[in-house]
Amino acid sequence: NAKKHGRNQVHWYHTGYEGQANRRLDKNQLLHQAVKLNNFEVHVQPRINCRSGEIQALECLVRIPQADGQLLYPGAFIELAEQNGLIRQIDSYMLKYALRQLNDWLQQGIEPLPLAVNLSVQSINDALIELLSQWQMKNADVFEYLEIELTEHKLPENDDQFAETLANIREFNIRLALDDFGTGYANLSRLPELPFQMLKLDRSFITELPHSEKQQAVVKSVIDLCMTLGIQVIAEGIETEEELTVINDLGCSYIQGFVYAKPKIITNIEDWIAGKKLTEQ
Ligand code: C2E
Ligand code: MG
Ligand code: MG
Ligand code: MG
Repeated sequence: NAKKHGRNQVHWYHTGYEGQANRRLDKNQLLHQAVKLNNFEVHVQPRINCRSGEIQALECLVRIPQADGQLLYPGAFIELAEQNGLIRQIDSYMLKYALRQLNDWLQQGIEPLPLAVNLSVQSINDALIELLSQWQMKNADVFEYLEIELTEHKLPENDDQFAETLANIREFNIRLALDDFGTGYANLSRLPELPFQMLKLDRSFITELPHSEKQQAVVKSVIDLCMTLGIQVIAEGIETEEELTVINDLGCSYIQGFVYAKPKIITNIEDWIAGKKLTEQ
């Protein structure tokens, strides 16, 4: 019986492992296919200035439409794409999308809403600088409205090449945001040396906020330091009025979150730009 049980265990383990490997293979293929066909959907989520109610920028977020009509969200594929190298092509798709959109608005004589794209560290490379240089010759005005977000906990330390590329990006006058602040070491001492104009407080900071005075003190000190350094703070993932009130009271007036709007496909964007205010929802 023990023997049989043991064999079953091995068998179970075996199929479990294979199942996992297969799913990974499937997702790998799905990613390759998506990249090959440019099968992406771009959703945008507004960042709001709570005081004025104005939309300050739109963050572009990638999704993959699947055969069954469902969307695959980044949480399910960014890590794999970073492992198999496809992230460069995904990021490049998103960046080109944003640049083209900004260019279209400018061509139409519309004052664009700034667009923010998320780039993985692998995409901070020479090819990026090359792409930006090409756009500089085509229409350098787009850079005024472009923002690049980089996730805090994935930033390399003491990487001269990386630091130099960031500096190159800044030479185009593109704004940089330190994303998901708080998911890593939330290293405040590093802030002065990094070339970021914006810092996005991760939702993990926010959820505890209404009920924890300690957490409020931590967030307050981040906000105060950023103010001293001239870094704009944006609170991410604000879902409730309660969270909104607390974060406003701590001195942060820029927020992104479901409380105002969920990410969605760009339609009627001209209406948003015209009003620059979020009237729906
Ligand atoms: P992120 O840059 O921090 O983007 C914010 C994420 O939080 C988005 O998830 C958004 O849908 C979600 N969110 C916004 N408001 C709320 C809220 O009130 N409550 C909660 N619970 N969540 C909220 P999404 O779109 O699934 O993206 C996840 C992450 O994937 C992004 O986090 C970003 O790091 C990464 N990502 C998205 N698009 C790209 C891309 O084109 N390239 C790269 N490299 N990474 C991307
Ligand atoms: Mg982001
Ligand atoms: Mg974030
Ligand atoms: Mg996040």
